[in-house]
Amino acid sequence: IISARAIWKSFGELSVLKGIDLEVAEKELVFVIGPSGSGKSTLLRCLNRLEEPDSGSIRMDGTEILEKKVDINAVRRRIGMVFQSFNLYPHMSALGNVTLALRHVLGLPRDAAEARALAALERVGLADRVSHMPGQLSGGQQQRVAIARAIAMEPRVVLFDEPTSALDPELVGSVLQVMRDLRESGMTMVVVSHEMAFARAAADRVVFMADGEKLEEGPPASIFGNPRHERTQAFIRQIE
Ligand code: ATP
Ligand code: MG
Repeated sequence: IISARAIWKSFGELSVLKGIDLEVAEKELVFVIGPSGSGKSTLLRCLNRLEEPDSGSIRMDGTEILEKKVDINAVRRRIGMVFQSFNLYPHMSALGNVTLALRHVLGLPRDAAEARALAALERVGLADRVSHMPGQLSGGQQQRVAIARAIAMEPRVVLFDEPTSALDPELVGSVLQVMRDLRESGMTMVVVSHEMAFARAAADRVVFMADGEKLEEGPPASIFGNPRHERTQAFIRQIE
């Protein structure tokens, strides 16, 4: 679905991505790990052009999305994103938050948008919370609203940037369960997270980044069980 080649990105003097390649196949869950500051978030943001790479190529379903003439909004409709901070509108209900983008970005009429939003909220286990305001929901529930908002758009792929990092430990499980269900249903996902047990259990492939480079990638069993690169070994030792 996604084929990113030789992605370079600098902020001023600081070279943050140094020629990264990333392939994501249909229905794959690709997990990205690495030390703080290694460029994981920047890479995700480049994939949906929240950040403009300095050079490189990103093909989505065969179409180059870095060309200037590409409609960025059309790209973002096909790439959902879930952030650490849920970014919900505080004055709108769960249903309102999910419906908004469907009406404004996809231009669906109210009834159709609400029906789709309800189905998405049901999928994340919040059928009984649709009228609640974000302030009346737990952090885990708010993050599930954010996931519902992303999947309601029926994207080709969803990018997750540390979706559970802002949550109290007892709320992490419900969000990971929703992500597991999404994977089971065949959603293509790229996940940056420190939840290594989840990576072992659910990832198809783990990518290890350090200093803006992809140093190693492979199935979770080999990255965690038998890392080849010494920086991967050091990283795995330190998190376990
Ligand atoms: P973390 O695990 O802490 O989230 P990360 O791997 O996601 O780290 P990035 O957020 O991609 O790392 O940042 C990589 C580097 O780029 C960091 O040194 C960061 O300070 C820098 N950086 C990121 N965004 C910007 C920006 N908009 N302007 C300047 N520097 C930035
Ligand atoms: Mg980050």
